[in-house]
Amino acid sequence: MIKIFKTFFIILFFITPVVWLSNYPGEVKILWRDYFIETSFTLYILILVFFSFCLSFFYLLYKKIIGFPENYKLRKNTQKLEIIGNSLNEIIKSINSGDNKKIDLGARIIKKQIGNNLFSTYVLSQSAISNNDYLKAKKYMKMLLKEKEGKFIGLKGLSLIALKENSMKEAQYYLEESLKIEPDNLWSLDKLSLLLARSNEWEKAAKLLESVKIKKNEKVIENRANFLMQAGAHPLEVWKVSKNIIPIVIKIIRYYIDEGKERKAYEVLAQSWQKLQYVGMVKEFVCIKEPDIKVSLRRFKLVLKALKPSLESDETKLGLAIAAFHASLWGETKKYLENIKQENWDSRIIELWRKLENNSDRLEIPRMPVNIKDTPQWVCKNCEKLTNSWSIKCENCKEIGQVIWSKSDLEKINQSHFENLFN
Ligand SMILES: [Zn+2]
Repeated sequence: MIKIFKTFFIILFFITPVVWLSNYPGEVKILWRDYFIETSFTLYILILVFFSFCLSFFYLLYKKIIGFPENYKLRKNTQKLEIIGNSLNEIIKSINSGDNKKIDLGARIIKKQIGNNLFSTYVLSQSAISNNDYLKAKKYMKMLLKEKEGKFIGLKGLSLIALKENSMKEAQYYLEESLKIEPDNLWSLDKLSLLLARSNEWEKAAKLLESVKIKKNEKVIENRANFLMQAGAHPLEVWKVSKNIIPIVIKIIRYYIDEGKERKAYEVLAQSWQKLQYVGMVKEFVCIKEPDIKVSLRRFKLVLKALKPSLESDETKLGLAIAAFHASLWGETKKYLENIKQENWDSRIIELWRKLENNSDRLEIPRMPVNIKDTPQWVCKNCEKLTNSWSIKCENCKEIGQVIWSKSDLEKINQSHFENLFN
């Protein structure tokens, strides 16, 4: 109903002036140069309408022609964006499936669309590295050097390749150059300090890491402590930097005990036990030159207090058994040894059982298992080589600061997930 009314009024709106004009046609006289045009007002209006229509038509046509290149460019750009978007998706999928060929292809398509750019060049270089094609990787890295924003990435990549190729001098040069651009870059600082450490320049290596904050990377801080130790710093100075270094903990416990500061030695043991779990630290604490049962008992109580928070671990139980044994508490020693599951008994535990058997006639000693577990050893995080003693340099792979106590609760993998993206 409303629609009918609407149509009716629209028709009325157009018809009324037309009808009115035909009723009052009027007269228009135009004198132009030597011509005299006489026409009705209606025709005059119609001509005016016709001309404005033509004018609008030509104006729109003109606009379309002028705007053609712009529109064409816009359409092309949209297509380009679509291609780039698809290629990026393909690259991510290929990274996940480890398809290097497709990663390469995606990066090349992007390069073709937008020319040389950091992203494609970087992806191509990483892909070349993972294919062990260092020559190609270097070519791309050097391309990155030419761009201001890509310079650091290029230098980092070149030093990484030099390290992989064992060209230590070259690696050092690129690392030093990269630190000129980003002096606080943790990766470059870490790698350069390790390089210096390799050539026994401990002091220089430690100095380089001076500005690194602990929350940034515990492993780098630990390295600095190691370098300081090698450079001959006082154990207390090293302890202030990192609490994760077993040889230092042992030295400090010894130092405080010798100084008669038993309480301080206890604090060091308490602060480091949970992470390090190395029974040698307990041995150092309970070891006394002149046997004194009162001192031994006091030390046992302190060990108990220091180790109690991690009582579930077998190393803690063994540590307590050792401390109890030193205090001649045979029953306590037995209790802690029995708490360790038989399948976890190793030669250290068997040895303590034997000693207990020799010292106490009244205690009943269990039958020793036939198969005993391997005694825990030090292990290199890099090459997994087992050794009987700690050393700063792995004797097998020569890496610095990688040897840890296998029972320690230290971070075993320091690599970031992104480093694993292509390798
Ligand atoms: Zn190693």
